[in-house]
Amino acid sequence: MDQSSKNSDKKSVATFCYQCVAGPDLMKVEVEDGIATRMESNYEIQDEHPGGGRVCVKAYGLIQKTYSPHRIKSPMKRTNPIKSRDEDPGFVPISWDEALDTVAGKMKDIFETNLLDESGYPRIAASFGGGGTPTQYMGSFPALLAAIGKIDLGFGSGQGVKCYHSEHLYGELWHRAFIVAVDSPHVNYILSCGHNGDAAAGVAGIWRHADARVRGMKRVQVEPHQSVTGGVAAEWIPIKPKTDAAFLYGVIHRIIIERDWREVCDVERLEQDSNSPYLIGPNGYWMRDPATEKPLIFDLADNTAKPFDSDIQTPGMEGSFTVSGIEIGADEDRWTHDNIEVKTSFQQLLDHMKEYTPEWAEEQSDVPAERIRTVADEFLANACIGQTIEVEGEEMPFRPVAVLLGKTVNNGWGGYNCCWARTMLLTLVGALEVPGGMVGSNVKLNRPADSRQKSAVGGPDGFMEFPFNETTKEGWQKSPSI
Ligand code: SF4
Repeated sequence: MDQSSKNSDKKSVATFCYQCVAGPDLMKVEVEDGIATRMESNYEIQDEHPGGGRVCVKAYGLIQKTYSPHRIKSPMKRTNPIKSRDEDPGFVPISWDEALDTVAGKMKDIFETNLLDESGYPRIAASFGGGGTPTQYMGSFPALLAAIGKIDLGFGSGQGVKCYHSEHLYGELWHRAFIVAVDSPHVNYILSCGHNGDAAAGVAGIWRHADARVRGMKRVQVEPHQSVTGGVAAEWIPIKPKTDAAFLYGVIHRIIIERDWREVCDVERLEQDSNSPYLIGPNGYWMRDPATEKPLIFDLADNTAKPFDSDIQTPGMEGSFTVSGIEIGADEDRWTHDNIEVKTSFQQLLDHMKEYTPEWAEEQSDVPAERIRTVADEFLANACIGQTIEVEGEEMPFRPVAVLLGKTVNNGWGGYNCCWARTMLLTLVGALEVPGGMVGSNVKLNRPADSRQKSAVGGPDGFMEFPFNETTKEGWQKSPSI
């Protein structure tokens, strides 16, 4: 939409910035004699935009980016095939016609020979340069790829195990989403391990966090250096780099070992919505009822182990019980047990976390043990266990606490442990996928693309169906389609 201004050679053009996935954000560009000279927010449309018509500071750099003498304006072709640190790749600009003819020519050659090589791998690979780039961003391109047939999409996309970003894998399992986010309009306490949201969360995200702080939300920022986000947090806790997992383990220890978990955790949710009372056999698999093959829970009301979906009055959460049953392992391995002593999953957790005291965590992370205890206690005090909130006419649990992890925190060494600890902390207080807590975003790999909830289907053991790949000699997928 063009708007005339005083001078005929000067106009203001309404457009948007989509430089990052936090956008699109609305703006206007002042254009003088065909040259963009200035950016500004577009308040005329502020009521229609979660960012109130604003752009962030990065958008103001778009003018420099557009007119940079180093900007790449056409496809680039490598002319030196020798690859080494000391070799100049010799990239030269080429026309779009030449680029399209080159790519189409190579693809035609492959179509005329074989889409797959001698080992059965696709000869064509496609990379989009961004992990989990949603297919809805790509127009009709996915349809073209599907029409071609087998294409290697695992190459270079930087996702899943390749980017080490453990949060994505946890997110897809626990939230059916590639990216998880805090419910900032409702949250009251955020424990942020290196999540630099006030630099990277985009206009709407930063604004929502600022509003939350104004209404009293407390954010505790745990990170080695004080980032912008740490600077405006209620508290900054310095920590030795890459020891966040130890810190979070110390917080969990405080909650379930030092405090009385029956008093401070969301026991109802743990009993009903988690595997806490499920019995574990000596080989590490569920103890199952031999007749129905369903996992067993020990009912303290009549001292009997029962299939998980029976009428269970008082599920045993801790300790061990003498039961008979079977275990079913990988590839249908089976073990039969008569009157053996087995523990519940929750007892296994208690045993596992016993050694990770706040003092141990202090040695690892340099965060004082007493500070770790205070964080755990504050987290519990803000969890509002038992409270509900009405959202669009529906009464839902209200758990306004969250744990955010920065990119380097959930990458590489300790990344898996941090994601596990974050998910565990939220599970202990019932803050997964409820108002105020952590929720999945709309960026996801699971299908269908229009709803993350639709892909969560109940399985036979009382959890989401998530079949692992077949590993038997006969059944393994020799030619997987990625
Ligand atoms: S957050 Fe900033 S860079 Fe990202 S789309 Fe919005 S204005 Fe552009």
